[in-house]
Amino acid sequence: MSDLVRVRFAPSPTGMPHVGNIRTALFNWLFARHHGGSFIVRIEDTDVTRRVEGAVEAILDSLRWLGLDWDEGPEVGGDYGPYLQSQRLEIYRAAAERLVKQGDAYLCYCPLERLEEMRREQVKKKQPPGYDRRCRALTEKERAELEAQGITPVVRFKTPLEGQIRFQDLIRGEVVFEAATIDDFVLLKSDGYPTYHLANVVDDHLMKISHVLRADEWLSSTPRHILLYKALGYEPPEFAHLPMILGSDRSKLSKRHGATSVIEYRDKGYLPEAVVNFLALLGWSLDDKTEIMGRDELVRNFSIERISKTGAIFSQEKLGWMNGVYMRRLSTEELVEQVVPFLDSGLPQTVKRPISRDYVRLIVPLTQERMRILSEVSELADFFFVDELDYRSVDLYLGMGLGADEQRLLEVKPGERYTGPLPYGAEKAPIALRTALEKLQALPSFDAPSLESVLRPLAAELGLKTGELFGLLRVAVTGRTAAPPLFQTMAVLGRERCLRRIGAALARLK
Ligand code: GLU
Repeated sequence: MSDLVRVRFAPSPTGMPHVGNIRTALFNWLFARHHGGSFIVRIEDTDVTRRVEGAVEAILDSLRWLGLDWDEGPEVGGDYGPYLQSQRLEIYRAAAERLVKQGDAYLCYCPLERLEEMRREQVKKKQPPGYDRRCRALTEKERAELEAQGITPVVRFKTPLEGQIRFQDLIRGEVVFEAATIDDFVLLKSDGYPTYHLANVVDDHLMKISHVLRADEWLSSTPRHILLYKALGYEPPEFAHLPMILGSDRSKLSKRHGATSVIEYRDKGYLPEAVVNFLALLGWSLDDKTEIMGRDELVRNFSIERISKTGAIFSQEKLGWMNGVYMRRLSTEELVEQVVPFLDSGLPQTVKRPISRDYVRLIVPLTQERMRILSEVSELADFFFVDELDYRSVDLYLGMGLGADEQRLLEVKPGERYTGPLPYGAEKAPIALRTALEKLQALPSFDAPSLESVLRPLAAELGLKTGELFGLLRVAVTGRTAAPPLFQTMAVLGRERCLRRIGAALARLK
């Protein structure tokens, strides 16, 4: 099979590439790499009205970010180029002319207003939309008259009026369409650009594409393509229509379901390995249990046989979980490289720049377990960087009653004091913090084991559970109730900062 496999990713640059587009790209890439074949990128930019500035770059950037390298296409060239359809207009025009000459296509002069009126009527009568074939039967004389009026015609395909169009889909098996349900579709528009159907078929043939793996939504185009292959005397490729991607509510995935542009995932701090793994499982599986698979493993195991017929559910939750798995596999050094840019953009401006890599190297092992995406790092670790902590959200833990936000949440009336229960240990906060401050001042060395050796016994001395004392100290030195392991965190913060913060917490209590 190896030198026979030539697959393509053929995006239209009509917007930013979303998860569905890139899943198609990935499946084609995996299929090509599995068989040692070629992966081709072809830009289908023939719909001038829908072209979006920057879309081609965004598509190529997404592929590059995910490591989906292409053997032929924009930037790399290849034997079957150019790979931008807008640079191949002559080829499509010649094909359309040939079809007209053969009697498989005809010129249509119907003005837009007529087509629109026809459509309105069809909608009103609840008839299927489609061209009524008026120009299919024009006489030579009528045609000459229309030409003389200076109307630029479109080229339409002469779809058979009856019979069935059949093809084998590698995922769905035999697919049958009634020819009567397909109208005489346009091949060449009056602006000289081909339609998707014509350009797609001509290029898949000329570029020697062996397998077309594309989204489900194109299934209804395939009978048109089959007709075109036949009329042009081309051998059709194999087809595999990939299952639809659904949101958690089982409707077609859309922006409503969260970030669906792949570039956004990059910018939010997902790892490319995790996104590749996640996308591979949107409609494909190795078995019914294996979730985590690296790129090589995916290439080794990918097969069309294991692509499912039914829609694939996109779960943002699962992507987050999977990204966490890949994050925990990174070495400290790799993670430092990855998080520094996110700290740089996420930490408040008051934090000195450039962010010290040596310092980040101390913090990363403490936060790695809790991070799911890179952009969370600033929120998880900001207390390692900022000068002043904001204790308002943790006042309750310091024995202060409710902070303003909590009062609002629990609907305590303004001016009224909260009289509900305090977290355990909070009423002993002043004495606990004061004693801890003294002990820490006197501690000869401020490393994690020394801190533990003095703070553990202190809890008993104060009549607190260790968890209660540690909870108080955590709040005092980090400003939050959940943070990385306490002693390591304090060691990284250093004596001076810890003492200052415990002092500040105490001052707040007074
Ligand atoms: N240009 C089409 C798209 O944007 C390609 C469909 C196909 O692969 O045939 O998805």
